[in-house]
Amino acid sequence: MELYIHIPFCVRKCRYCDFASFAESGTAMADYADRVAEEAERRAAEIGPQPAETVYVGGGTPSVLPPELTERLLRSVFRFFPPAEGAEFTVEANPGTLTRAWLDAVRKAGCSRLSMGLQAAQPSVLKTLGRIHSARQAADSVKLAREAGFRDLNLDLMFGIPGQTLADWRETLDFALSLEPTHLSCYGLIPEEGTPLKADLDAGRLALPDEETERRMYDEALRTLAEAGFIRYEISNFALPGHECRHNIGYWTRVPYLGLGLSAASLLRSPNGEERRETNPATLAAYARMQPRETETVDRREAQFETLMLGLRMTRGVSERDYAAAFGEPIGLRYGPRLESLRRGGLLEHAEGRWFLTRRGMDVMNAALVELMD
Ligand code: SF4
Repeated sequence: MELYIHIPFCVRKCRYCDFASFAESGTAMADYADRVAEEAERRAAEIGPQPAETVYVGGGTPSVLPPELTERLLRSVFRFFPPAEGAEFTVEANPGTLTRAWLDAVRKAGCSRLSMGLQAAQPSVLKTLGRIHSARQAADSVKLAREAGFRDLNLDLMFGIPGQTLADWRETLDFALSLEPTHLSCYGLIPEEGTPLKADLDAGRLALPDEETERRMYDEALRTLAEAGFIRYEISNFALPGHECRHNIGYWTRVPYLGLGLSAASLLRSPNGEERRETNPATLAAYARMQPRETETVDRREAQFETLMLGLRMTRGVSERDYAAAFGEPIGLRYGPRLESLRRGGLLEHAEGRWFLTRRGMDVMNAALVELMD
Protein backbone atom coordinates (compact mmCIF):
# COMPACT_ATOMS: atom_id res chain seq x y z
CA MET A 1 0.00 0.00 0.00
CA GLU A 2 1.05 3.57 -0.69
CA LEU A 3 0.39 6.41 1.72
CA TYR A 4 -0.53 9.99 0.84
CA ILE A 5 -0.92 12.76 3.42
CA HIS A 6 -2.47 16.05 2.33
CA ILE A 7 -1.38 19.34 3.90
CA PRO A 8 -3.86 21.94 2.62
CA PHE A 9 -2.04 25.14 3.64
CA CYS A 10 -0.26 27.68 1.47
CA VAL A 11 1.12 31.15 2.10
CA ARG A 12 -1.19 32.54 -0.55
CA LYS A 13 -3.31 31.07 -3.31
CA CYS A 14 -1.62 30.96 -6.73
CA ARG A 15 -3.72 32.43 -9.54
CA TYR A 16 -4.07 29.14 -11.45
CA CYS A 17 -4.63 26.85 -8.50
CA ASP A 18 -7.76 24.81 -7.91
CA PHE A 19 -6.18 22.37 -5.44
CA ALA A 20 -7.54 22.04 -1.92
CA SER A 21 -5.30 24.65 -0.31
CA PHE A 22 -5.78 27.80 1.77
CA ALA A 23 -3.86 30.39 3.72
CA GLU A 24 -4.42 29.62 7.42
CA SER A 25 -3.21 30.44 10.90
CA GLY A 26 -0.97 28.33 13.12
CA THR A 27 -3.94 27.34 15.31
CA ALA A 28 -5.83 25.95 12.33
CA MET A 29 -2.71 24.00 11.35
CA ALA A 30 -2.34 22.49 14.83
CA ASP A 31 -6.04 21.47 14.83
CA TYR A 32 -5.63 19.97 11.41
CA ALA A 33 -2.62 17.90 12.48
CA ASP A 34 -4.74 16.49 15.33
CA ARG A 35 -7.56 15.61 12.92
CA VAL A 36 -5.13 13.79 10.60
CA ALA A 37 -3.75 11.86 13.58
CA GLU A 38 -7.30 10.85 14.52
CA GLU A 39 -8.06 9.85 10.96
CA ALA A 40 -4.94 7.64 10.84
CA GLU A 41 -6.05 5.88 14.02
CA ARG A 42 -9.59 5.37 12.65
CA ARG A 43 -8.26 4.09 9.36
CA ALA A 44 -5.95 1.66 11.14
CA ALA A 45 -8.98 0.28 12.99
CA GLU A 46 -10.82 -0.14 9.66
CA ILE A 47 -8.15 -1.57 7.36
CA GLY A 48 -5.47 -2.63 9.84
CA PRO A 49 -2.16 -0.93 10.54
CA GLN A 50 0.39 -1.65 7.83
CA PRO A 51 3.70 -0.42 6.45
CA ALA A 52 3.65 1.97 3.50
CA GLU A 53 5.75 1.06 0.46
CA THR A 54 5.89 4.74 -0.47
CA VAL A 55 4.97 7.89 1.44
CA TYR A 56 4.05 11.16 -0.25
CA VAL A 57 3.24 14.29 1.72
CA GLY A 58 1.66 16.76 -0.69
CA GLY A 59 -0.43 19.88 -0.72
CA GLY A 60 -0.84 22.66 -0.53
CA THR A 61 2.59 23.48 0.75
CA PRO A 62 3.72 21.03 3.45
CA SER A 63 6.73 23.26 4.15
CA VAL A 64 4.48 25.95 5.68
CA LEU A 65 3.73 23.65 8.64
CA PRO A 66 5.98 24.51 11.58
CA PRO A 67 8.76 21.90 12.02
CA GLU A 68 7.56 20.59 15.40
CA LEU A 69 4.02 20.22 14.08
CA THR A 70 5.31 18.42 10.98
CA GLU A 71 7.21 15.99 13.17
CA ARG A 72 4.23 15.45 15.44
CA LEU A 73 1.87 14.84 12.53
CA LEU A 74 4.21 12.36 10.82
CA ARG A 75 4.92 10.54 14.07
CA SER A 76 1.22 10.14 14.80
CA VAL A 77 0.50 8.73 11.32
CA PHE A 78 3.56 6.45 11.33
CA ARG A 79 2.36 4.80 14.57
CA PHE A 80 -0.09 2.96 12.31
CA PHE A 81 1.35 3.29 8.80
CA PRO A 82 5.14 3.48 9.08
CA PRO A 83 7.34 3.68 5.99
CA ALA A 84 8.40 0.14 5.00
CA GLU A 85 12.07 -0.76 4.85
CA GLY A 86 13.53 1.04 1.80
CA ALA A 87 10.31 3.02 1.19
CA GLU A 88 10.46 6.08 -1.04
CA PHE A 89 9.40 9.05 1.08
CA THR A 90 8.70 12.36 -0.65
CA VAL A 91 7.59 15.69 0.77
CA GLU A 92 6.49 18.67 -1.32
CA ALA A 93 7.87 22.11 -0.56
CA ASN A 94 7.75 25.54 -2.10
CA PRO A 95 10.59 28.01 -2.43
CA GLY A 96 10.27 30.90 -0.05
CA THR A 97 8.88 28.69 2.72
CA LEU A 98 11.78 26.34 3.41
CA THR A 99 13.79 26.53 6.60
CA ARG A 100 16.65 24.38 7.77
CA ALA A 101 14.63 23.40 10.87
CA TRP A 102 11.75 22.11 8.70
CA LEU A 103 14.14 20.22 6.40
CA ASP A 104 15.79 18.61 9.42
CA ALA A 105 12.38 17.67 10.83
CA VAL A 106 11.30 15.82 7.66
CA ARG A 107 14.72 14.19 7.30
CA LYS A 108 14.46 12.97 10.86
CA ALA A 109 11.06 11.46 10.03
CA GLY A 110 12.73 9.48 7.22
CA CYS A 111 12.06 11.68 4.19
CA SER A 112 14.64 11.24 1.45
CA ARG A 113 13.09 13.03 -1.50
CA LEU A 114 11.98 16.60 -1.91
CA SER A 115 9.61 17.89 -4.60
CA MET A 116 9.71 21.62 -5.14
CA GLY A 117 7.51 23.92 -7.23
CA LEU A 118 9.78 26.11 -9.35
CA GLN A 119 7.40 26.54 -12.35
CA ALA A 120 9.32 29.29 -14.17
CA ALA A 121 12.54 31.29 -14.01
CA GLN A 122 11.21 34.74 -15.07
CA PRO A 123 9.75 37.22 -12.58
CA SER A 124 7.02 38.25 -15.05
CA VAL A 125 5.88 34.66 -15.62
CA LEU A 126 5.96 33.86 -11.90
CA LYS A 127 3.86 36.97 -11.34
CA THR A 128 1.28 35.86 -13.91
CA LEU A 129 1.01 32.59 -12.00
CA GLY A 130 0.78 34.41 -8.67
CA ARG A 131 3.71 32.47 -7.22
CA ILE A 132 5.16 33.87 -4.01
CA HIS A 133 8.83 33.26 -4.83
CA SER A 134 11.56 34.27 -7.25
CA ALA A 135 13.88 31.96 -9.16
CA ARG A 136 16.69 33.13 -6.86
CA GLN A 137 14.73 31.96 -3.83
CA ALA A 138 14.21 28.60 -5.52
CA ALA A 139 17.97 28.26 -6.00
CA ASP A 140 18.53 29.22 -2.34
CA SER A 141 15.96 26.64 -1.24
CA VAL A 142 17.67 23.94 -3.27
CA LYS A 143 21.01 24.89 -1.69
CA LEU A 144 19.46 24.66 1.76
CA ALA A 145 17.98 21.26 0.93
CA ARG A 146 21.39 20.02 -0.24
CA GLU A 147 22.98 21.23 2.99
CA ALA A 148 20.31 19.33 4.93
CA GLY A 149 21.33 16.15 3.07
CA PHE A 150 18.68 15.86 0.34
CA ARG A 151 20.08 14.24 -2.81
CA ASP A 152 16.83 13.25 -4.51
CA LEU A 153 15.09 16.36 -5.80
CA ASN A 154 12.16 16.94 -8.12
CA LEU A 155 11.36 20.32 -9.61
CA ASP A 156 7.91 21.11 -11.05
CA LEU A 157 7.99 23.29 -14.17
CA MET A 158 5.13 24.71 -16.18
CA PHE A 159 4.77 25.65 -19.84
CA GLY A 160 1.98 27.16 -21.92
CA ILE A 161 1.66 30.12 -19.53
CA PRO A 162 0.22 33.44 -20.77
CA GLY A 163 3.08 35.72 -21.78
CA GLN A 164 5.66 32.91 -21.67
CA THR A 165 7.81 32.71 -24.80
CA LEU A 166 9.74 29.76 -26.15
CA ALA A 167 12.93 31.55 -25.09
CA ASP A 168 11.52 31.90 -21.54
CA TRP A 169 10.80 28.18 -21.45
CA ARG A 170 14.30 27.31 -22.68
CA GLU A 171 15.72 29.54 -19.98
CA THR A 172 13.52 27.85 -17.36
CA LEU A 173 14.71 24.40 -18.44
CA ASP A 174 18.36 25.50 -18.32
CA PHE A 175 17.88 27.15 -14.96
CA ALA A 176 16.20 24.03 -13.55
CA LEU A 177 19.02 21.82 -14.85
CA SER A 178 21.60 24.12 -13.25
CA LEU A 179 20.07 23.17 -9.87
CA GLU A 180 20.95 19.51 -10.60
CA PRO A 181 17.62 17.83 -9.87
CA THR A 182 17.21 14.06 -10.24
CA HIS A 183 13.63 14.40 -11.49
CA LEU A 184 11.62 17.01 -13.40
CA SER A 185 7.87 17.30 -13.91
CA CYS A 186 6.89 19.50 -16.87
CA TYR A 187 3.20 20.26 -17.00
CA GLY A 188 1.30 22.27 -19.56
CA LEU A 189 -0.88 24.87 -17.84
CA ILE A 190 -4.54 23.90 -17.73
CA PRO A 191 -6.69 26.96 -16.94
CA GLU A 192 -9.16 25.70 -14.35
CA GLU A 193 -12.67 27.12 -13.99
CA GLY A 194 -13.08 29.46 -11.04
CA THR A 195 -9.46 30.58 -10.87
CA PRO A 196 -8.40 34.24 -11.32
CA LEU A 197 -6.16 33.21 -14.20
CA LYS A 198 -9.07 31.64 -16.08
CA ALA A 199 -11.14 34.79 -15.47
CA ASP A 200 -8.36 36.90 -17.00
CA LEU A 201 -8.19 34.59 -20.01
CA ASP A 202 -11.97 34.65 -20.48
CA ALA A 203 -12.01 38.45 -20.26
CA GLY A 204 -9.18 38.73 -22.78
CA ARG A 205 -6.79 40.33 -20.30
CA LEU A 206 -4.38 37.43 -20.84
CA ALA A 207 -3.84 35.04 -23.74
CA LEU A 208 -2.36 31.56 -23.85
CA PRO A 209 0.53 30.84 -26.22
CA ASP A 210 -0.78 29.31 -29.45
CA GLU A 211 -0.95 25.54 -29.88
CA GLU A 212 2.13 25.41 -32.11
CA THR A 213 4.23 27.30 -29.53
CA GLU A 214 3.02 24.99 -26.79
CA ARG A 215 3.92 21.96 -28.85
CA ARG A 216 7.38 23.39 -29.50
CA MET A 217 7.78 23.98 -25.77
CA TYR A 218 7.06 20.33 -25.07
CA ASP A 219 9.47 19.28 -27.85
CA GLU A 220 12.09 21.56 -26.34
CA ALA A 221 11.68 19.82 -22.99
CA LEU A 222 12.05 16.41 -24.65
CA ARG A 223 15.21 17.47 -26.45
CA THR A 224 16.89 19.44 -23.65
CA LEU A 225 16.17 16.92 -20.95
CA ALA A 226 17.22 13.95 -23.08
CA GLU A 227 20.53 15.72 -23.75
CA ALA A 228 20.96 16.16 -20.00
CA GLY A 229 20.50 12.41 -19.46
CA PHE A 230 16.87 12.48 -18.31
CA ILE A 231 14.53 9.75 -19.43
CA ARG A 232 10.89 10.57 -20.03
CA TYR A 233 9.02 7.77 -18.29
CA GLU A 234 5.58 9.39 -18.29
CA ILE A 235 3.95 12.07 -20.44
CA SER A 236 5.02 14.88 -18.09
CA ASN A 237 7.72 13.26 -15.98
CA PHE A 238 11.44 12.93 -16.57
CA ALA A 239 14.06 11.31 -14.35
CA LEU A 240 17.71 10.43 -14.27
CA PRO A 241 17.95 6.62 -14.47
CA GLY A 242 16.88 5.06 -11.18
CA HIS A 243 15.17 8.22 -9.92
CA GLU A 244 11.65 7.68 -11.28
CA CYS A 245 8.98 8.49 -8.68
CA ARG A 246 7.85 5.14 -7.29
CA HIS A 247 4.81 6.68 -5.63
CA ASN A 248 3.43 8.04 -8.89
CA ILE A 249 4.26 4.85 -10.77
CA GLY A 250 2.15 3.17 -8.09
CA TYR A 251 -0.80 5.43 -9.01
CA TRP A 252 -0.38 4.67 -12.70
CA THR A 253 -0.20 0.92 -12.07
CA ARG A 254 -3.11 0.98 -9.63
CA VAL A 255 -1.27 -0.02 -6.47
CA PRO A 256 -3.76 0.51 -3.60
CA TYR A 257 -3.24 3.74 -1.69
CA LEU A 258 -4.50 5.32 1.47
CA GLY A 259 -5.01 9.07 1.45
CA LEU A 260 -5.18 10.95 4.74
CA GLY A 261 -6.28 14.53 5.15
CA LEU A 262 -8.70 16.94 3.60
CA SER A 263 -9.86 15.96 0.08
CA ALA A 264 -7.45 13.01 0.02
CA ALA A 265 -8.52 10.02 -2.08
CA SER A 266 -7.89 6.34 -1.39
CA LEU A 267 -8.05 3.25 -3.57
CA LEU A 268 -8.53 0.22 -1.36
CA ARG A 269 -8.67 -3.44 -2.36
CA SER A 270 -10.20 -6.13 -0.16
CA PRO A 271 -8.64 -9.59 0.05
CA ASN A 272 -11.40 -10.85 -2.29
CA GLY A 273 -10.30 -8.32 -4.93
CA GLU A 274 -13.18 -5.87 -4.49
CA GLU A 275 -12.09 -2.28 -4.94
CA ARG A 276 -13.44 0.95 -3.60
CA ARG A 277 -12.45 4.55 -4.04
CA GLU A 278 -12.98 6.89 -1.13
CA THR A 279 -12.63 10.66 -1.05
CA ASN A 280 -12.42 12.77 2.09
CA PRO A 281 -14.44 16.00 2.51
CA ALA A 282 -12.95 18.99 0.73
CA THR A 283 -13.41 21.75 3.31
CA LEU A 284 -11.64 22.20 6.63
CA ALA A 285 -14.94 22.42 8.48
CA ALA A 286 -16.35 19.22 6.96
CA TYR A 287 -13.09 17.35 7.49
CA ALA A 288 -12.85 18.54 11.09
CA ARG A 289 -16.43 17.35 11.72
CA MET A 290 -15.37 13.95 10.34
CA GLN A 291 -18.15 14.02 7.80
CA PRO A 292 -18.38 10.70 5.96
CA ARG A 293 -16.12 10.06 3.01
CA GLU A 294 -17.59 9.66 -0.45
CA THR A 295 -17.29 6.00 -1.32
CA GLU A 296 -17.80 4.28 -4.65
CA THR A 297 -17.24 0.71 -5.70
CA VAL A 298 -14.85 0.31 -8.61
CA ASP A 299 -16.25 -2.46 -10.76
CA ARG A 300 -14.18 -4.78 -12.89
CA ARG A 301 -14.89 -2.92 -16.14
CA GLU A 302 -13.82 0.39 -14.64
CA ALA A 303 -10.67 -1.14 -13.14
CA GLN A 304 -9.76 -2.57 -16.55
CA PHE A 305 -10.24 0.77 -18.28
CA GLU A 306 -8.23 2.56 -15.57
CA THR A 307 -5.42 0.07 -16.04
CA LEU A 308 -5.20 1.16 -19.67
CA MET A 309 -5.89 4.85 -19.10
CA LEU A 310 -3.23 5.21 -16.40
CA GLY A 311 -0.76 2.68 -17.80
CA LEU A 312 -0.67 4.38 -21.19
CA ARG A 313 0.52 7.58 -19.52
CA MET A 314 3.84 5.84 -19.01
CA THR A 315 6.28 5.35 -21.85
CA ARG A 316 6.62 1.69 -20.87
CA GLY A 317 2.88 1.33 -21.43
CA VAL A 318 0.69 -1.55 -20.32
CA SER A 319 1.99 -5.07 -19.93
CA GLU A 320 -0.28 -7.79 -21.32
CA ARG A 321 1.06 -10.21 -18.72
CA ASP A 322 0.33 -7.85 -15.79
CA TYR A 323 -3.15 -7.16 -17.15
CA ALA A 324 -3.88 -10.89 -17.47
CA ALA A 325 -2.55 -11.51 -13.95
CA ALA A 326 -4.77 -8.74 -12.54
CA PHE A 327 -7.97 -9.70 -14.33
CA GLY A 328 -7.61 -13.38 -15.19
CA GLU A 329 -8.24 -12.72 -18.89
CA PRO A 330 -6.17 -11.49 -21.83
CA ILE A 331 -6.27 -7.77 -22.63
CA GLY A 332 -7.56 -8.64 -26.10
CA LEU A 333 -10.80 -10.07 -24.75
CA ARG A 334 -12.26 -6.65 -24.04
CA TYR A 335 -9.95 -4.35 -25.96
CA GLY A 336 -8.46 -6.36 -28.85
CA PRO A 337 -10.19 -4.69 -31.84
CA ARG A 338 -9.92 -1.19 -30.35
CA LEU A 339 -6.22 -1.54 -29.54
CA GLU A 340 -5.60 -2.84 -33.07
CA SER A 341 -7.53 0.01 -34.61
CA LEU A 342 -5.47 2.58 -32.64
CA ARG A 343 -2.29 0.77 -33.67
CA ARG A 344 -3.30 0.94 -37.33
CA GLY A 345 -4.09 4.64 -36.87
CA GLY A 346 -0.54 5.25 -35.61
CA LEU A 347 -1.53 6.16 -32.02
CA LEU A 348 -0.44 2.93 -30.32
CA GLU A 349 2.46 0.55 -30.69
CA HIS A 350 2.66 -3.07 -29.65
CA ALA A 351 5.99 -4.70 -28.86
CA GLU A 352 7.34 -7.34 -26.50
CA GLY A 353 4.00 -7.95 -24.86
CA ARG A 354 3.28 -4.28 -24.10
CA TRP A 355 0.99 -1.62 -25.53
CA PHE A 356 2.18 1.96 -25.47
CA LEU A 357 1.35 5.30 -27.05
CA THR A 358 3.36 6.63 -29.98
CA ARG A 359 4.49 10.25 -29.89
CA ARG A 360 1.39 11.18 -31.86
CA GLY A 361 -0.69 9.10 -29.48
CA MET A 362 0.73 11.04 -26.54
CA ASP A 363 -0.15 14.33 -28.24
CA VAL A 364 -3.76 13.26 -28.65
CA MET A 365 -3.96 10.97 -25.66
CA ASN A 366 -7.47 11.94 -24.65
CA ALA A 367 -8.80 11.17 -28.11
CA ALA A 368 -7.04 7.80 -28.03
CA LEU A 369 -8.53 6.97 -24.64
CA VAL A 370 -12.03 7.86 -25.77
CA GLU A 371 -11.66 5.09 -28.36
CA LEU A 372 -10.94 2.62 -25.56
CA MET A 373 -13.95 3.58 -23.48
CA ASP A 374 -16.98 1.30 -23.42
S1 SF4 B 1 1.60 26.56 -3.91
FE1 SF4 B 1 0.60 24.89 -5.06
S2 SF4 B 1 -1.16 24.27 -3.80
FE2 SF4 B 1 -0.44 26.26 -3.01
S3 SF4 B 1 -1.73 27.74 -4.03
FE3 SF4 B 1 0.13 27.52 -5.27
S4 SF4 B 1 -0.35 25.91 -6.79
FE4 SF4 B 1 -1.91 25.84 -5.17
